[in-house]
Amino acid sequence: MQAGRLSAQEYAQRFADATPRLTPAQAVLEAERCLYCFDAPCATACPTSIDVPSFIKRIGDGNLRGAARTILESNPLGGMCARVCPTENLCEAVCVRNTQEDRPVAIGRLQRHAVDALMESDKPQIFTRAPATGKKIAVVGAGPAGLACAYTLAREGHDVVVFDAKPKAGGLNEYGLASYKTPGDFAQQEIQWLLGIGGITIQNHWKLETVAQLEALRKDYAAVFLGMGLATTHPLGIAGETLDGVQDAVDFIATLRQTEDKATLPVGRRVVVIGGGMTAVDAAVQS
Ligand code: SF4
Repeated sequence: MQAGRLSAQEYAQRFADATPRLTPAQAVLEAERCLYCFDAPCATACPTSIDVPSFIKRIGDGNLRGAARTILESNPLGGMCARVCPTENLCEAVCVRNTQEDRPVAIGRLQRHAVDALMESDKPQIFTRAPATGKKIAVVGAGPAGLACAYTLAREGHDVVVFDAKPKAGGLNEYGLASYKTPGDFAQQEIQWLLGIGGITIQNHWKLETVAQLEALRKDYAAVFLGMGLATTHPLGIAGETLDGVQDAVDFIATLRQTEDKATLPVGRRVVVIGGGMTAVDAAVQS
């Protein structure tokens, strides 16, 4: 294990944005490849039911704000999903352009184009909070589920307190995604956008560990949403798992994400990754 194996320039290149942004001209050209299918299979394949052809049509018309509204109406975390969603297995896998041209419409990149344009604009808030209901709701876990829940409730006029064990909100988005998928601290930028709706307070360093804590939340709040996600990964249960140099891939990625200067992190010359899922691939690529 050794730190600083690469030059500063090599670190910058290797941890740079894996999928560069579309230029405005590229986005319009790509949007024009969409056939705006009736009963669009891409929209059905989207786990958050984004009206894909509608937002693509708006990009083609130059209406990026309208496109972002369509996306965020269904999925307030549409900016991060555009970066990390496995679109090749979801919306893009079923795009009819695969049959015609062997290449789907670049739905994920178009989605990012629209949401980034909104978030970088002078008026990034696109929705207005409903009048206050006077209800207070607790959300446990500031990961994607908790944040989306908090945002949706706040939009309806409720006051929401989000409790999270970690020093930063974001959960998987902040601690579990490869650096090259989310450069530029986008997880925190997106959280700032979510908080911009108003009515959401985040309380960090708060971990749900006892029934008494849960009972107190139920007493003090009108409703409690539990969105803690997976606190730990499954151990393999084999000898040697705790030896020096053996590391959980999720912890490895979290450390990478939280380390500003990647040159300070020791990495083995030869690294073995057990598993073949996306986290394993991210751990292998980043090693
Ligand atoms: S399936 Fe492809 S072509 Fe059809 S609406 Fe969706 S993105 Fe457009």
